[in-house]
Amino acid sequence: MDDWPEIRQSVARLCAGFPGSYWQEQDAKAAYPTEFVSALANAGWLAALIPEEFGGAGLPLSAACAILEEIHASGGNGAAAHAQMYVMGTLLRHGSAAQKATWLPAIARNELRLQAFGVTEPDAGSDTLSISTMAVRDGDDYVINGRKIWTSRAQHSDLMLLLARTTPKDQVARRTDGLSVFVLDMRDCPGLSIQPIATMMNHGTTSVFFDDVRVPVANRIGEEGQGFRYILSGMNAERILIAAECLGDARFFLDRACDHARTRQVFGRPIGQNQGIQFPLAMAHARAAAARLMVADACRRQEAGERGEAEANMAKLLAAEASWQAGEAALQTLGGMGFAAEYDVERKFRETRLYQVAPVSTNLILAHLAEHVLGLPRSY
Ligand SMILES: Cc1cc2nc3c(=O)[nH]c(=O)nc-3n(C[C@H](O)[C@H](O)[C@H](O)COP(=O)(O)OP(=O)(O)OC[C@H]3O[C@@H](n4cnc5c(N)ncnc54)[C@H](O)[C@@H]3O)c2cc1C
Repeated sequence: MDDWPEIRQSVARLCAGFPGSYWQEQDAKAAYPTEFVSALANAGWLAALIPEEFGGAGLPLSAACAILEEIHASGGNGAAAHAQMYVMGTLLRHGSAAQKATWLPAIARNELRLQAFGVTEPDAGSDTLSISTMAVRDGDDYVINGRKIWTSRAQHSDLMLLLARTTPKDQVARRTDGLSVFVLDMRDCPGLSIQPIATMMNHGTTSVFFDDVRVPVANRIGEEGQGFRYILSGMNAERILIAAECLGDARFFLDRACDHARTRQVFGRPIGQNQGIQFPLAMAHARAAAARLMVADACRRQEAGERGEAEANMAKLLAAEASWQAGEAALQTLGGMGFAAEYDVERKFRETRLYQVAPVSTNLILAHLAEHVLGLPRSY
């Protein structure tokens, strides 16, 4: 599999224009990193996965992984924009020719932002099939009522890929039926309101309220009632891309920690000379290296068109744990300085912690592996 050295260098050069001080400022103000996202989009990196016929670069998933990993290794945060890479996959795979022609070239030209993905609801997080936001057919429209939570970047996106129920849960033949996917244009959308949620890291996440919001039938992706399958088909890519971000985080933590360990003198010698400092860093390196192999394997399977669900899940699970452990080792290595905002470690520590919960929590991955790989009874 190509490791994309030229892409990595190019993204790293772009990221060098957005140093720690830039991210610290956005973090302190809980501001969206607009300049960074614009630079990324203008350079074409957010259109990496859009096929060339629609104006994108037509690159494979491993290239998108390289882009996101470099952003994170530089100390930045791809969460401000990563959804555009995987959300459009649902449109690409299941949208009609007319839908793709309408939206994909405009996204590739950076004239339209598809950054919001509305799935989770207050009463349905891990249990996606319990969502209750309803889309009811009314002539050429659907009328949507309900609420989403944790819809990240909704205030910085033109479009939202929305999963809503078109058949009540108690009337479906199969648990996975009755959900539909829509592309909601949020630019002129009466009845839609968005409220930011304050979180431990700067993530631009929101609650979204739908009060008789109308969406044209023409904006429904694929068949009515089949939306869960369409969303599911994009989840492997999402998990692999997030895993790549975690690998970047692990690199960032280890770089910072090792620099500090080599130079910080305590009791007349560098702290990195102590095995108590070396071993957690060496262990974190080994774990990140193992996770990297898993991410590469998951990526290769996706690119080869295999199902690769277990591998995508394991890649995300192991990379999220590796980045967290690298963060923990870095924080300990930096001592008091680890807690100072100007060293960026505390910010990255908060940011990387998310990936053990979202987009799917570690427990749910373990439950999936137990059932589907190990053949154990379903636990939920
Ligand atoms: C900052 C942030 C950004 C997000 N962005 C988005 C977004 O853009 N779009 C979107 O749709 N969603 C988004 N999410 C939502 C995210 O996908 C959910 O938080 C996640 O799926 C977990 O759902 P939950 O929070 O409802 O937790 P719950 O489902 O309530 O679970 C709580 C805990 O219980 C555990 N648990 C639940 N059931 C079981 C079981 N059977 N066995 C063992 N353990 C179990 C879980 O593992 C978890 O640790 C975001 C979340 C956050 C925090």
